[in-house]
Amino acid sequence: MKVLLTGSAGFVGSHLAERLLREGHHVTGVDNYLSGQRRNTELLRAHPHFRFVEADVSAGLPVDGSFDAVLHFASPASPPHYQQHPVETLMVGAQGTQHALELARRCGATFLLASTSEVYGDPRVHPQPESYWGHVNPTGLRSCYDEAKRYAEALTMAYHRHHGVDTRIVRIFNTYGPRMRADDGRVVTNFINQALAGRPLTVYGDGQQTRSFQYVDDLVEGIMRLLASAYHGPVNIGNPDEYTILEFAQVIRELIDPGLEIVHAPMPADDPRQRRPDISLARELLGWEPRVSLLDGLRRTVAHFQQFGAREYVQVEA
Ligand code: NAD
Ligand code: UDP
Repeated sequence: MKVLLTGSAGFVGSHLAERLLREGHHVTGVDNYLSGQRRNTELLRAHPHFRFVEADVSAGLPVDGSFDAVLHFASPASPPHYQQHPVETLMVGAQGTQHALELARRCGATFLLASTSEVYGDPRVHPQPESYWGHVNPTGLRSCYDEAKRYAEALTMAYHRHHGVDTRIVRIFNTYGPRMRADDGRVVTNFINQALAGRPLTVYGDGQQTRSFQYVDDLVEGIMRLLASAYHGPVNIGNPDEYTILEFAQVIRELIDPGLEIVHAPMPADDPRQRRPDISLARELLGWEPRVSLLDGLRRTVAHFQQFGAREYVQVEA
């Protein structure tokens, strides 16, 4: 396949590009480095079937030729990043998604949208099945991300129903692994890099809010299977093993340094109290379920940050 991948310099995009290249596909990556890393592009450039275009996909997709698949992963994903760039986040979910859908329509390509568990907001149904419509604050601090993704899903379904585009929607739950930005402010990178530096782990609020953490290789496998399917509705891809954030801090402490202190900091506004995917649909439809345990995935991620060092693996300005 000839694949167009937006967000190729990001954490998930770089892993997905690597997998596609390994399977013999040709990948054109597009990214403007809003939250991505030049280091990821350099890594992919080593492959003869990778091409890179630096561009803001909200302004357009300046690419020639035809594609068999258009995968739209461009968007800041960490709460500190999207809250620093709320307008850009809304634009890439709206105009960026439309430009990617138009390209897919023109080429007769399959389109895949990277959506998110954030479409469920602060959920009142637990665990969250795809049939749940969510509980989102439309004007809160997280709305720039949540509503952008909800709009992007609606736009994707409109292009499918109205223009006959062959679309997929993956709802990604919290994912971690090597090549995350050490400074992205998400809980996995914060805790690992605090622990490696011997600093206290910062638990926001009482730490009783829950998340379910998925290793990136499991996500990529789920995306590849969804792409190969013919299913147009949204599909949850996540690991249903649920932890309170306090329990998660204890896991990191045991793994890196049992002597570390855990401190509490204020709870951010609208932070979801609980999150866990119902993956019945992915199991049934794709024969998919996560394979990497939390401890295995964390060991690989910690090894990455030990190798590269927290300070090296941050955004490199143009
Ligand atoms: P990331 O920030 O590492 O990657 C996003 C990439 O998109 C970055 O390289 C960034 O520079 C690029 N980008 C942003 N706006 C752009 C624009 N206008 N034009 C071109 N490039 C642009 O984040 P990630 O964790 O790799 O997330 C990738 C995708 O997966 C996002 O769409 C995100 O919403 C979705 N997702 C991720 C998670 C997760 O846990 N990692 C969870 C749910 C959904
Ligand atoms: N969190 C925390 N300490 C940190 C960073 C995050 O306790 O240093 C909490 C955050 O409040 C949230 C959870 O960990 O409840 C997951 O946060 P993250 O930003 O990783 O992702 P999201 O909220 O988007 O799921």
